[in-house]
Amino acid sequence: MTSIDAMKTCIECGCIKPMAKFYVFNVMEDGRMPWCKACHNGLTKWHKEQAAFYADRQLGDPSEETIRFQCERIQAGWTEKKRARRRVLSA
Ligand SMILES: [Zn+2]
Repeated sequence: MTSIDAMKTCIECGCIKPMAKFYVFNVMEDGRMPWCKACHNGLTKWHKEQAAFYADRQLGDPSEETIRFQCERIQAGWTEKKRARRRVLSA
């Protein structure tokens, strides 16, 4: 279905990039993460920054609400089908 030469639109930055710029993620239908490597690394950094922010203020870990907000922002670009699949996996 998806060749290695195919292009994919990153749901985070909206850039159209070659599949090689997306990490392999077998859960997805096309076998790649919905956001590019650059955005993935940025998201990881975001999580670290959030963790540091809360640690500094001794508020404990980022609340579930905070994490859910970020996840929903990401998943907003996903299709309902993919979301349903993710629910099954995380159940
Ligand atoms: Zn991106």
